[in-house]
Amino acid sequence: MTPLIVGLCGTDLEIIDGNIDPAYVSYPLALGHEWCGLLSGDDHQLIVAEGVVPCGHCGRCREGRTNLCETYEEVGFTRDGAAADEVVVPRDVVHLLGEHVDRSAAALVEPMAVVYQGLARARPQPGWRVLVIGDGTIGLLSALLARLFSPARVDLVGARPAQEELALSAGVDSFGLTTSRAPAGYDLVIEAAGSSQAAVMAVEAARRGGTVVLLGLPPHGETAIVAIDKVVNGDLAVHASFSYSSSAFAAAATLLDAGAVDPSFLVTHRFPLEEWSAAIETLRRPSGVRGKVVLEI
Ligand SMILES: [Zn+2]
Ligand SMILES: [Zn+2]
Repeated sequence: MTPLIVGLCGTDLEIIDGNIDPAYVSYPLALGHEWCGLLSGDDHQLIVAEGVVPCGHCGRCREGRTNLCETYEEVGFTRDGAAADEVVVPRDVVHLLGEHVDRSAAALVEPMAVVYQGLARARPQPGWRVLVIGDGTIGLLSALLARLFSPARVDLVGARPAQEELALSAGVDSFGLTTSRAPAGYDLVIEAAGSSQAAVMAVEAARRGGTVVLLGLPPHGETAIVAIDKVVNGDLAVHASFSYSSSAFAAAATLLDAGAVDPSFLVTHRFPLEEWSAAIETLRRPSGVRGKVVLEI
């Protein structure tokens, strides 16, 4: 494949810094797990590809839970990613998109699939009150995709006031700061900040009978103290979600191709591949409105 746009994310920083569980990464490595491209030798056919490469025959793959394949392989983690002139992926993980699809939006299918997988586990019901914790791409995409399930409201709490503009574009009813507010009473809380404090806040924010989905990934081995009686007395459902299955990725690609969602507003910074270090610096030290940082290959 010939990569066109490669999104960078906090997980890339953790790979650079060596903060990922060593079981899920192998060095040396070309980064790039959020991308779109063209079929090699075809200047027109826009494609996206599942990053998780399932073996297709283990028990987990046969259950459809390809994100848990017994042989973990992921583009940009254990295989070279797309921040390069060429990237090689198996035919089975490639999904075709129509020419009408915005290329920057296409590069967001991978994080959309992460969010879709988590939301599918929560089975959101119409009328639910939804809280998203985290103002990065996964949080903003969570707010955007949660709208598809006809919630009563979607609120988002973030760490940086400048992100309010993007949160409103994602369709939130309110934006607040994690420091100024201890939210409570939500049917569904999505943790997308990737810190153990945010995970604790997510449990605290759920109403009795509510559902918590942990999408963020704190540094390897980090622990948190959770009031277990709150979880038990609250009859809470707490789900954690790892990556995405083939079907979640296909659903995300289809939603984009059909025009049901448009996440292109999220791309706020673009750099040519040669300026990768400036791109990583923008990711590491955000200032002002900062959505997805992408490399244009
Ligand atoms: Zn990512
Ligand atoms: Zn498998």
